[in-house]
Amino acid sequence: MEDKENPPSLDFQNTQIAYAHKTDQELKETSRLFTLMNKPSLVGIGSNLGLTAIKLQFPLIQRLIKNTIFKQFVGGTNLLDCQKTIDHLYQNKTLTILDYGAESKSEEADLDHVRDETVRAIQLAASNNSVPAVSTKITGLAKNELLEKLNKDEQLNSAEEHEFQKLYQRLNAICEEAYNLKVSIFIDAEESWMQIAMDRLVNEMMAQYNKDKVTVWNTFQLYRKDKLDFLKECHQNAMDQGYMLGAKLVRGAYMDKESLRAEQEGYPNPIQDTKDDSDRDFNLAIGYCVTHYETIGSCCASHNAESNLLQARLIAENQYDRRHPHLNFCQLYGMSDNITFNLAQAGYNVAKYVPYGPVKEVIPYLIRRAKENSSVTGDMSRELSFILTEMKRRGLK
Ligand SMILES: Cc1cc2nc3c(=O)[nH]c(=O)nc-3n(C[C@H](O)[C@H](O)[C@H](O)COP(=O)(O)OP(=O)(O)OC[C@H]3O[C@@H](n4cnc5c(N)ncnc54)[C@H](O)[C@@H]3O)c2cc1C
Repeated sequence: MEDKENPPSLDFQNTQIAYAHKTDQELKETSRLFTLMNKPSLVGIGSNLGLTAIKLQFPLIQRLIKNTIFKQFVGGTNLLDCQKTIDHLYQNKTLTILDYGAESKSEEADLDHVRDETVRAIQLAASNNSVPAVSTKITGLAKNELLEKLNKDEQLNSAEEHEFQKLYQRLNAICEEAYNLKVSIFIDAEESWMQIAMDRLVNEMMAQYNKDKVTVWNTFQLYRKDKLDFLKECHQNAMDQGYMLGAKLVRGAYMDKESLRAEQEGYPNPIQDTKDDSDRDFNLAIGYCVTHYETIGSCCASHNAESNLLQARLIAENQYDRRHPHLNFCQLYGMSDNITFNLAQAGYNVAKYVPYGPVKEVIPYLIRRAKENSSVTGDMSRELSFILTEMKRRGLK
């Protein structure tokens, strides 16, 4: 039981706690990898090499990827392979959210495969105390073209109508299995030109499966100008219809793509005008969800120290139960260990998003991880500086 009078304190600068799960050797390997990823030109070459290796099926390069960047950011090639990662995280008081790495599929057989893989992950989660949730992407369950058409409310032809029925059935099968097995299902947010259609579907699933417990969680991208209002509107609708809202809060991953498309097609950019605006709405969303935690299950999915501290502070100041299932934090596997393991040590519900899948399936995910922050101001240099501090503390350099 948590001691509410003397809750454990929280310090994201504490590298001893952050890297207690890594041996000296592992820490050195991680530092070498992050040093390489800190070089944008190398990341560019590495990304092209990775894609070529996959196309040409070069076993040597695939092995190199598997022993370096894959090992850092991915839980394993299949579910069974992830168990070691899941157990290791749990030994360090951290939960796992499983995420099958397939993206942008279009063949019916591939879309069915993503459904089956997600259902299998839910079944594994149900038999595993340390896996409260599984994550999925709607673009893994339907063609992008169909989602774009639905987004614009365009008339579907009969083949598309059939595809829509299949999408609905796949998503419903996943949510139903999650509900029956008492596992949460997190649905990612994606590009704005498909998101209206996705939100509609996820709201329908929430209305069906979130009456007695939050099973289905939508994702709200606060880098969008309209999403704080939309969060409140979804909460109000949930209240009116007698179900609870599941809200994973993110800033958002597709900023450049969004701005480019808005400019090319001449519509207003949906992305906030400045980073400060994104930060303001993200933090307001945290405040809103924590305040309404009895009817909103929320998850602060972020590597931003201030936002994570804000949620932790709100929970502590209001003396809410740090272990309440509606109050959660989550970071990507292999990143921001200073946030995850310090939150875990202080008794908060924290999980790592653990992607898994064959090397060829997770390559686009790995390239995003390496590219998104290979600049000096990005996450990678933040990561590297924490790792170097810990190496110094251990006398390793
Ligand atoms: C567990 C987890 C799950 C995730 N799931 C999703 C998902 O389903 N969908 C999705 O889109 N993303 C998702 N993300 C990715 C997430 O959106 C990015 O990791 C996130 O945007 C990085 O922001 P941050 O909160 O870590 O903080 P920071 O590093 O402080 O913020 C960086 C972010 O701020 C925003 N930003 C930067 N510059 C500007 C600017 N000039 N104007 C406006 N905004 C700006 C961008 O969103 C940028 O990514 C997830 C992340 C995590 C940790």
